[in-house]
Amino acid sequence: MADRSNEPVVVIGLARFGSALALELTERGVDVLAIDSNPRTVQDLSGRLAHVVTADATDIEALRQLGVPDFSRAVVAIGTNMEASILTTSLLAELEVADIWAKAVSRRHGRILERIGARHVVYPEYDMGERVAHLVSGHMQDYVELDEAHAIAKVGPPGELVGVPLGEAGMPARYGVDVIAVKPAEGGFEPAGPGTVLAPGDAILVLGRISRVERFADAV
Ligand code: ATP
Ligand code: ATP
Ligand code: CA
Repeated sequence: MADRSNEPVVVIGLARFGSALALELTERGVDVLAIDSNPRTVQDLSGRLAHVVTADATDIEALRQLGVPDFSRAVVAIGTNMEASILTTSLLAELEVADIWAKAVSRRHGRILERIGARHVVYPEYDMGERVAHLVSGHMQDYVELDEAHAIAKVGPPGELVGVPLGEAGMPARYGVDVIAVKPAEGGFEPAGPGTVLAPGDAILVLGRISRVERFADAV
């Protein structure tokens, strides 16, 4: 597949999620056309985004005039206004924008977006809620689900793993997780290997099935 990482992106809907996304893409050197129907929102962002315009994205003529059909990537960051989200997504599909990302506020909303042409659907509120639940309930310092079955957690090492080379600790057999990186109290992350010996103040990244990662963190 061609490297699309620097192709321009249309971002539609500039509330908290959409504005953060547009600003981050800009910071990463990606050209962004940012669209919102609220002039006040556009005004607020005009100093920080190079191309930010007021338009109603449910109006196909407005999208054409802005050159949206020339883009191969778009993000629909309208959430709560489900009708606008669905209409906008279907218009982008009609204009043959190849790579459509859309934010959904519910699973049902997400299924509709997929059916009408969104290639990727994201659920920021659900995902963040699940993530924070792991941080609140356990000993995790960070937690990321990679797919339905797998996750990476940042945790302190369980006492029994301190001072023993990882290769001798038998982590995969005992816990069903792999230690993939270690961060000493002072310093950055380094890849972990069989010879890595953990110290009490270290943070480690463990990768494995979600249930195993959860169980491992509970043992910390
Ligand atoms: P967040 O959670 O990111 O703060 P939200 O999902 O709660 O956002 P929404 O009410 O869905 O917020 O709106 C997101 C943004 O999309 C708002 O800034 C709104 O002005 C914009 N928006 C809504 N409808 C349209 C439309 N038809 N065309 C362009 N922008 C729109
Ligand atoms: P999300 O982005 O998670 O969908 P939100 O930030 O858009 O949520 P809010 O309007 O802030 O939604 O409300 C979040 C929830 O908090 C709602 O279910 C609301 O009923 C509840 N809530 C609001 N105020 C209070 C309060 N004073 N006491 C208890 N619950 C409250
Ligand atoms: Ca919200």
